[in-house]
Amino acid sequence: MWNRLVAFILALLGRKKDAPLENADKDLTVSRFGRLSLAQLDTCHPDLQRLFYRVVEKYDCSVLVGNRSHADQDKAFNAVPQRSKVKWPNGKHNSLPSSAVDVAPYPVDWSNTKRFYHFAGYVQGIANELGIKIRWGGDWDSDYDLDDQKFMDLVHFELIKSETS
Ligand SMILES: [Zn+2]
Repeated sequence: MWNRLVAFILALLGRKKDAPLENADKDLTVSRFGRLSLAQLDTCHPDLQRLFYRVVEKYDCSVLVGNRSHADQDKAFNAVPQRSKVKWPNGKHNSLPSSAVDVAPYPVDWSNTKRFYHFAGYVQGIANELGIKIRWGGDWDSDYDLDDQKFMDLVHFELIKSETS
């Protein structure tokens, strides 16, 4: 008990500034968000927070973007290649709290797309378990066919509006 607690505290102290815990200690299978991730997740809808706090426990990840300001939405829209297809304030990232969040498996390696697909499947499974309806940017029409779309946004997860939210 005490050994585990001490190991946990040491791991917390030893972690890099914004790095979630890497699973270096095999007994310590719980990972956590770093400071920057927490700041982003804090701007998101409570259901997204609930979802990704669960996800990060077993699948280390970084929250890249929660709420996006007017200026940031313009940047995303004007970026080449485009990071968003909609203008402010129509993006799901533009509401506060944000009903969309961009999350990547940690450590982030943009060239390794396989990991994004693997991660998204895990997120979808946890969302189903929690009863949270989400849409993923790698499968916009949520038909589990990953080849029937043009705009791939593999880190993007958004809430599907229901009558209760
Ligand atoms: Zn997004």
